[in-house]
Amino acid sequence: MTIDLRSDTVTKPTQDMMEAMMAAQVGDDVFGEDPTIKALEQKTAAIFGMDGGLFCPSGTMTNQIAIKILTQPYDEVICYSGAHIYKYEGGGVMGNSGVSVRLLDGDRGVITSDEISQNINPDDAHLPKTSVVSLENTVNKGGGCFYHLGQIKKISDLCINNNIKLHLDGARVFNAIVETDEDPKEFGKYFDTISVCLSKGLGAPVGSVLLYKEQYAKQAHRMRKVFGGGMRQAGYLAAAGIYALDHHVDRLKEDHKRAKQLEEVLISLPYVEKVIPVQTNILIFELAGNLTAKECIDKLEEKGVKSVAFGYKEVRFVTHLDFNDAMLEQTINVLKEINL
Ligand SMILES: *Cc1c(COP(=O)(O)O)cnc(C)c1O
Repeated sequence: MTIDLRSDTVTKPTQDMMEAMMAAQVGDDVFGEDPTIKALEQKTAAIFGMDGGLFCPSGTMTNQIAIKILTQPYDEVICYSGAHIYKYEGGGVMGNSGVSVRLLDGDRGVITSDEISQNINPDDAHLPKTSVVSLENTVNKGGGCFYHLGQIKKISDLCINNNIKLHLDGARVFNAIVETDEDPKEFGKYFDTISVCLSKGLGAPVGSVLLYKEQYAKQAHRMRKVFGGGMRQAGYLAAAGIYALDHHVDRLKEDHKRAKQLEEVLISLPYVEKVIPVQTNILIFELAGNLTAKECIDKLEEKGVKSVAFGYKEVRFVTHLDFNDAMLEQTINVLKEINL
């Protein structure tokens, strides 16, 4: 049994999800004729209290479209220094939108309205115009930590007062929602755009939805075409997304529980220096002494457990739909028996 903890993107569709996909009604979505894609877009927008949505091939594309439609070249985007939009999208915000970034550390990537407020540029010809704040929830690089609505509301108030738009990279927003128990409809009051991934913890094979306020609908649609994201009979994929929203949200708590169980074991191991406290399904730990992440992940892989390096001495595990209790037990045994 190979155990894959590299990411929550490695899941395969379940039999029931496959059946939902096979039964989908489809049409050419570039002509606006795919009923399943429309249903997914409307369903996702309704969950978050947003006006509309666009089904896209990836979360990178939904983020890139959002930044593109909320900015003009020479503007500046405020985000966490480890944010996906900055660090893991190939420099896209610079290339696609021609904007600079202002990077904040936050507390494990959770940035506050105070920090943001100190980094909004005054209206001065020397300085790029601060036009967007982009939040990530949960924060990947921060170890899966999340925002509460109160924190988001404060940031939104600040943005409104300064004529700044607010984007959410919600690749794992459902992992946050199941932990806070807050109503996702509230998000619609605070964000101009939201990116939601179906291919992470929700277990769909492909796809993200970009949600927006009505005034951005036309431009978002145009930019999806420009970026090459207009798909045809993609309702088969959208059907997997609908299935995931109906059946795979509440179960995210199981992933969080298993991540916490792994954390407990890791804390007790001599070769682990520290573990970033687990909040959702991401677990990042630092190795003790001279041990490098590469040595650790190679050793784990020899024993059938895949993971990724998340820095020179840091290793990341992500729990997901295809990581069950038997695999958890096996992983714990491997962690205990490897001598590093
Ligand atoms: C995975 C991820 C994305 C989107 O990635 P794609 O692989 O392009 O779908 C965006 N933001 C965060 C924080 C992510 O973890």
